[in-house]
Amino acid sequence: MLRIYNDLSRRLEEFTTREPNKVYMYVCGLTPYDYAHAGHGRSAVVYDVIHRYLTYLGYEVIHISNFTDIDDKIIERSNELKVNFKELAEKFASIYLEDLKRLNVLPLYAYPRATEFIPEIIEMVKVLENKGYAYEISDGVYFDVSKFSDYGKLSHRNIEELQAGARIEVNPEKRNPLDFALWKKAKEGEPSWDSPWGKGRPGWHIECSAMTLKILGNSFDIHGGGDDLIFPHHENEIAQSEAYTGVEPFVRFWVHNGMLNVNKEKMSKSLRNFFNLHTLLEDYDGEVLRLFYISVSYRKPLNFDLEGLEVARKNYEYLHNSYLELKKYLTKETSGTASIKEQILKWKEQFLNAMDDDFNTPVAISVLFEVFKFFNANKDSVSKDDLILLDSILGDMFYILGFDRIGVERNIDFSFKEKIEQILEEFLEVEDIKKELEDKDLADPVSVLNTLIEIRNKFRREKNFALSDRIRDGLKSIGIILEDTKEGTKYRLEATNG
Ligand SMILES: [Zn+2]
Ligand SMILES: [Zn+2]
Repeated sequence: MLRIYNDLSRRLEEFTTREPNKVYMYVCGLTPYDYAHAGHGRSAVVYDVIHRYLTYLGYEVIHISNFTDIDDKIIERSNELKVNFKELAEKFASIYLEDLKRLNVLPLYAYPRATEFIPEIIEMVKVLENKGYAYEISDGVYFDVSKFSDYGKLSHRNIEELQAGARIEVNPEKRNPLDFALWKKAKEGEPSWDSPWGKGRPGWHIECSAMTLKILGNSFDIHGGGDDLIFPHHENEIAQSEAYTGVEPFVRFWVHNGMLNVNKEKMSKSLRNFFNLHTLLEDYDGEVLRLFYISVSYRKPLNFDLEGLEVARKNYEYLHNSYLELKKYLTKETSGTASIKEQILKWKEQFLNAMDDDFNTPVAISVLFEVFKFFNANKDSVSKDDLILLDSILGDMFYILGFDRIGVERNIDFSFKEKIEQILEEFLEVEDIKKELEDKDLADPVSVLNTLIEIRNKFRREKNFALSDRIRDGLKSIGIILEDTKEGTKYRLEATNG
């Protein structure tokens, strides 16, 4: 039974859904005025693991995340760079989406942009004004928090307590300092849209409500985001949404991830460089970074430092190499007879219990280490049948945690065996490739693939692009895509899920 910590109740709750077998899920996304930083990567991976685990449990997951493509920072930056605000936002949004692919984040159902929801936003603000929750002043339309009696329920504080702790810009026209802008009137030269209040643009909070109510409907299942968004952003989302629809709750489970902390004094120049997610992914494999991100509970803060990244790199190599070793044992003759079926099923149970406990990834990962420690010490004595069972259970674990490259290797060995053999035969008919293949490791499909990549890169270095392209295109024809990165050439399977 899956239990999730709900910030609304501040309790672990049994997870239930609005509709059977479906999870409607929203996570506050990026304001793409610049490169994403390492903290955005953590958030994306955290919710990806949740998405994967729910999928594993049999739910259809309708998961969306927004891009705030109009706001102060976007306007400021686009003025600085003298580019259109939309161009700027789309550029950094697409770089971010590429980075997420390298982190094995599954594609989402949709990535709505704030500017695609202007009519819905205007409609919401109009209704809130008509219902008496909103009022117009000289620079915009504001939500009156004193009219919403539940204001503060997510932060578990009342208006006075929230006000005491908040940094709020002074605006004498506002009725209450905590009142927030639903609609901002345009200043000279700003991008703007026509509205009943003249030209203007949405405030920050309203887009998330407009998008989710339209795409996911009332009382959807999970709303995620960093824990720095609880107040005021999510508090405001609840207020404006429930005031608008009259339906409570706006969201059934509020889930928040901890921050990625950087010790500012200790932050060396190189570490500062790494804090840029795009740069970080040039030096650290996406799966190493994933392991780093999920090595602590998603709700806890995580320290961002080079030591931590190096530990993740070593741990990942251990998992990966141990798995490659298991794979070898699966393809060769073995003489072991010991049955460890019960132990394997116990590991599976421990892993799933950890995930059921509010997605406790550090405990789940420790089970993986236990499995491989046992395997490395006992691989010669375990029966083939049990190694096969172990492999199939590991496949589920890798899927859930998102170590797809390891998963891809399983896939290549089992599902791509024939295709690889067939393409190898084709290549053996090309004299220059055949020569290179002599004496190379062709023991199993993954070895063949790695050998072909090696040969292709040799041709590339020799500027023999006809042959290097021939190998790349041949692999592409069977659904294996090569990608050249700073860490060398990697492969992935052609996406089949959009
Ligand atoms: Zn949001
Ligand atoms: Zn939100």
